[in-house]
Amino acid sequence: MSVRILEGKVFAAQIKQSVKVEVEKIKATQRMNPGLAVIIVGENPASKVYVANKHKACEELGIYSEVISLPESISKEELLAQIISLNENPAIHGILLQLPLPEALKNEEAELLKAIHPDKDVDGFHPVNVGKLAIGQEHLVPCTPAGCIKMLELANVEIAGKHAVIIGRSNIVGKPMANLLLARHATVTICHSRTADLSSITRQADILIVAIGKAQFVTADMVKPGAVVIDVGINRLPDKKLVGDVDFEQVKEVAGAITPVPGGVGLLTIAMLLSNTVKAATLLHVKK
Ligand code: NDP
Repeated sequence: MSVRILEGKVFAAQIKQSVKVEVEKIKATQRMNPGLAVIIVGENPASKVYVANKHKACEELGIYSEVISLPESISKEELLAQIISLNENPAIHGILLQLPLPEALKNEEAELLKAIHPDKDVDGFHPVNVGKLAIGQEHLVPCTPAGCIKMLELANVEIAGKHAVIIGRSNIVGKPMANLLLARHATVTICHSRTADLSSITRQADILIVAIGKAQFVTADMVKPGAVVIDVGINRLPDKKLVGDVDFEQVKEVAGAITPVPGGVGLLTIAMLLSNTVKAATLLHVKK
């Protein structure tokens, strides 16, 4: 059986197309423009590229986008004031605080993320949105796991009744991923660095989601023949080559379907951010 390569660009284009249609509909019927504000603090080069990509993607789809660049020296109080002013700004429906924050603000991260109004929290990190997801009331869901689910759905991968194994239990990928799969009736196992005999568990997975941050960690012997393998990891090898957490060349010989890195689920993260922004704009409009 030949492996199916799940190309991120194909699915990202489908999501963006439906977001574009939504944006046009909102503009025509509600006479407003969905708006996203991205706050970036300091000069982290990778963050600057991510923010520029988000801004460009908004422009392509007709979403109003504001990038607020703040100096590394900004205090927590000043940053909180900025967030509060965006919470109150009717032209802004989604607020994203680009992470990581500079060292001096790292300990304030939780408080700053909590200051974003849950209805504008397009990253889905606010405890209210985390709680809603946990009790099966999906509102604004973290973009990377939301992208993984969307890809599985668009690729017509059956989830209900399947055994989904997730490696990684972070708040931004592993845990929300587990809740999303559970809500779609998968039997879910979450593995982490203390999991004993990891391979014996991963080999039971019909759907294997890998989010650990270790280059080419998952090898062919860890994968059940025919499994769907979603690689969330992004790692740079010493020779600068970008690879995932899965050894793609080996695992594609065993898996039924697999996402490449680069070119896999990473491309869906921005698409889901745009989708969350439009969702937030629609819900805020209904609440008005
Ligand atoms: P974290 O570092 O927050 O979490 C990593 C998780 O992997 C932890 O739960 C950790 O376990 C687990 N882990 C680490 N080593 C092992 C091991 N040997 N065996 C089993 N489990 C292990 O990472 P993130 O969730 O933030 O990110 C994971 C990867 O996904 C990274 O490569 C990141 O770059 C990428 N990523 C990609 C995104 C995209 O847009 N495509 C977005 C977000 C992340 P424990 O909890 O016990 O420490």
